[in-house]
Amino acid sequence: MINIGIVGYGNLGRGVEANLKNAPDMNLVGIFSRRNPDTLDTEAKAYHIDDILNFKDKIDVLILCGGSRSDIPEQGPALAEHFNTVDSYDNHSQIPNYFESIDTVAKAHKYVSIIATGWDPGLFSLNRLIGEAILPKGDTYTFWGEGLSQGHGDAVRRVEGVKDGVQYTIPNTELIDQIHAGETVEYTSKSAHNRDVYVVLEEGADAEKVKNDIVTMPDYFEGYQTEVTFITEEELHANHAGLPHGGRVIRSGETSPDMQQVYEYGLNLGSNPEFTAAVNVAYARAAYKLHQEGLSGAQTVFDIAPKYLSPKSAADLRKELL
Ligand code: NDP
Repeated sequence: MINIGIVGYGNLGRGVEANLKNAPDMNLVGIFSRRNPDTLDTEAKAYHIDDILNFKDKIDVLILCGGSRSDIPEQGPALAEHFNTVDSYDNHSQIPNYFESIDTVAKAHKYVSIIATGWDPGLFSLNRLIGEAILPKGDTYTFWGEGLSQGHGDAVRRVEGVKDGVQYTIPNTELIDQIHAGETVEYTSKSAHNRDVYVVLEEGADAEKVKNDIVTMPDYFEGYQTEVTFITEEELHANHAGLPHGGRVIRSGETSPDMQQVYEYGLNLGSNPEFTAAVNVAYARAAYKLHQEGLSGAQTVFDIAPKYLSPKSAADLRKELL
């Protein structure tokens, strides 16, 4: 049995707890939180994070489920001194710096830290790499959605006159059809995605002004085709409470003149955090196995051979090649 600890109990932490029930070779030792553990809504054993070093010999891998902005950069290197770790750090531009900071600690203390797992970064990154390696002559496209974007939802909720709201990122299917047909397209993040916003207005708010403030918001909505729909609070809770997401990576290229090939990888996720957590769990298995083999230091999805993700032996996996 691989003994697992969960650090941080938000959406992702709850997702890891749920996914561990599907892992026959893993055991949840406990959940570690900065909050009073008695206040966490879980049936699992919960502890304060300050007690985590008491579990140094009882836990094989910690799955770090804190936020990428400030939790993971602090908790990752601190915990890599005492445990193997896995995280889904997603601050794209800072990943190389984060890798260096945790690699130094993990190597010095002979632990493995697999960083930036999840789906993007994570499985999408892996599929971009494979598509580009196989089809060196071509173009890569990433489409996100349909899915709920937390950051854009937060921005909408800060607009004056908005009581509550959510934002869905919608991929431009016409562009996807053109890529499938082997056509050359003008791909930018703005041409590839539309934005659908559902807003509950404050009483007496000016709907036209709210709509205008949203669609012209720099960095978030300006330049995008944005649809704003006003709904009641009841509708918001009934129809927009989930955390769906997904998307696709497409590599379109030629292997010889006029011989078009399309490599595509897609995800259609009922719950973004619960799927991200499922990826974390598989990479936790890899961290355990690699540590058993004597490896240490930071790793990304690019460094991990697929056999390490599976609970099956390499010999059994070979029987399943076809
Ligand atoms: P949450 O905001 O739900 O949780 C983050 C942390 O906040 C928790 O670990 C928890 O720490 C604390 N927290 C949670 N709920 C509460 C609360 N009610 N009151 C006070 N503190 C709370 O974030 P998510 O779990 O949704 O996401 C975590 C990270 O996962 C994101 O920052 C994102 O970077 C990453 N992610 C990566 C993806 C990928 O594909 N690579 C995809 C999706 C997410 P504690 O228990 O210690 O208080």
